[in-house]
Amino acid sequence: MAAGWLRRLFAQGSRPESQHDAAARDEAAAAAVTLVSDDPLSSLLSHAKLTLGMQLRAKGITNPKVLHAMLDEVPRERFVIGSMVDRSYEDVTLPIGSGQTISRPYIVALMTQLLEPDSTKTVLEIGTGCGYQAAVLSKLFSHVYSIERHSDLAETAEERLRQLDYTNVSVHFGDGFLGLPDLAPFDAIILTAVPRTVPNALLNQLAIGGRLVMPLELENGDQFLMRYTNSKAGLFEERLLQVRFVPMIQGLPSRNGAQATEISHDSTPIESPKVDSII
Ligand code: SAH
Repeated sequence: MAAGWLRRLFAQGSRPESQHDAAARDEAAAAAVTLVSDDPLSSLLSHAKLTLGMQLRAKGITNPKVLHAMLDEVPRERFVIGSMVDRSYEDVTLPIGSGQTISRPYIVALMTQLLEPDSTKTVLEIGTGCGYQAAVLSKLFSHVYSIERHSDLAETAEERLRQLDYTNVSVHFGDGFLGLPDLAPFDAIILTAVPRTVPNALLNQLAIGGRLVMPLELENGDQFLMRYTNSKAGLFEERLLQVRFVPMIQGLPSRNGAQATEISHDSTPIESPKVDSII
């Protein structure tokens, strides 16, 4: 682009372009390109991406499509709040407004990998937040349905996803405990906020062979990442690793800002999940 602009500038003179002019133009174009890639923020982000890639691989993120989506396709810097842009590719949790957070890249990558993504399948996400996880999923599934209970977050995420051209994501404002029964079954379901029980409505919306990946809070307050696989023989449960998520809250926020109850009536209590495998 810089070379084209310079070519036009040089071409404005009345005499034909000499060899010397052409060399000077190419040199100036090269300098302009160097200047663009020398932008301190973009070189910081590129460097941070390389480091993050190594960290994710070292921690067992092996699915090349997940790594490609997170490191090459989805610009995380477009989803975080302005003052945090320079930290976009650090493996840390970041604030996204309304008291909510975006998970650290390792957890996003791990949960996505655990869903065993397939570009012919659909996924339901509970907790759209800033829309980053939904954007990553959109690169790996045929369609992403995402539910958010904060209307401001839902609207901002929807607008951001539209601007960035993620056409296979639909954001639904509502209570994720209910899922989207009219659009079920889903091949994969992911919860990015933590409930105290596994929501029955969501289990009922999981296709046979489908996977539900979610954090679960135990009575002692510890949270674990869980995966439930729905097979004809029943539900297979895996407890993976200890995590920390914001609470999944039932109902919608009231107008005066008070929170709705965190207790779900439509759920199966799991007091001490059995450990089938640990990674
Ligand atoms: N996946 C998000 C991060 C989500 S943080 C991202 O990539 O940015 C958890 C989100 O879950 C918050 O936005 C919170 O408002 C939402 N949430 C909590 N309880 C919910 C519920 N019952 N239904 C839908 N969303 C819920």
